[in-house]
Amino acid sequence: MMTSVDNRVRTGPLSPVRGFMCLLALLILVGCGNDSAPVRLQGKAIGTTYSIVAYGLPDGLDAQKMHQGVEQVVADVNVVMSLFKPDSELSRFNKYDGADWFPVSKELAGVVRTAKTISLLTGGAFDITVAPLVNLWGFGPEKRPNKIPTAGQIKNAQAEIGADFVEVRIDPPALRKLKQGISIDLAAIAKGYCVDAVSGWLKDKGVSDFMVEIGGEIRTAGTKPGDAPWLIGVEKPVAGGRSVQAVIELNGKAMATSGDYRNYFEADGKRYSHIIDPVIGKPISHNLVSVSVVEDSCTMADALVTGLMVLGPEQGINLAEKHKLSAFFIVRTEDGFAETATGDFPQHKAMK
Ligand code: AMP
Ligand code: MG
Repeated sequence: MMTSVDNRVRTGPLSPVRGFMCLLALLILVGCGNDSAPVRLQGKAIGTTYSIVAYGLPDGLDAQKMHQGVEQVVADVNVVMSLFKPDSELSRFNKYDGADWFPVSKELAGVVRTAKTISLLTGGAFDITVAPLVNLWGFGPEKRPNKIPTAGQIKNAQAEIGADFVEVRIDPPALRKLKQGISIDLAAIAKGYCVDAVSGWLKDKGVSDFMVEIGGEIRTAGTKPGDAPWLIGVEKPVAGGRSVQAVIELNGKAMATSGDYRNYFEADGKRYSHIIDPVIGKPISHNLVSVSVVEDSCTMADALVTGLMVLGPEQGINLAEKHKLSAFFIVRTEDGFAETATGDFPQHKAMK
């Protein structure tokens, strides 16, 4: 069988608006099969881009209808959780300053519940209320600060955050603020949620062989023609250029990746990442440069990788081992990069 390899690179962020900045890319290696032409779709979603490859559309669904359907799913996600839209459900909740239950969609309640679960699991490393710190360090919609924030500013911002100050009710779905002024930013979990939502729509429509990628988070279903597996590349964590660190077979699961090597600024020779450790109130500054997690749920995988990035090489790997997470850590060493795989992370082939 002739196989060609099509290296697709997720493109960079389309909007500087906080939260949905893309920080890393996965190179997706999509082999072309020999007995069915793929349908390829690309577009914009939640401040980044999506890319979809599907084989064998069922009767009644063509590429155009599929495109319309996917665009609608993406639009629906924006209506619920985008902070770019002042009237999204999430924006309205953030503006609400009452202490009563605020009715939301079951989708938003579900994502916030998952986020709180990962906050608990990571000891507060993952925190969807972290926006005041993200803004303070210049990774929000406001301008980058000229100076590194003072200890006092950091303390004030820390007083404004805490995932425990948001309560979730699933039935009927609602959110409640236990502290006035608390706000939610789903930047670290919404891409994964959107991948799950688009994948769910494709499955509902009877598409069984596809790959969905949004801002570097990915899910596959089925196979490529000839029962060939979907091969997914984990990007080498370097800022300049794009190359592949490892290739895995992602069979029917989701993979999310978080890294600190693309979205950062430098001041006085020090690198400041867009991923913030809420416990110390500062950008992470350890040698863990990238984490990927394979999970059934891309929403969960997306939240987990950000939490593990915050925890760093020792605590992150310990947590992944303890909970048998299928994770892949890339740590910067004096000689280059060291890899650690935990749980059932799919066998990977290093690319040199
Ligand atoms: P991700 O690319 O999924 O790792 O998400 C990174 C984005 O999440 C950042 O650009 C921030 O907007 C936000 N963020 C930063 N630190 C945290 C944190 N500790 N917990 C949750 N979200 C965070
Ligand atoms: Mg994430």
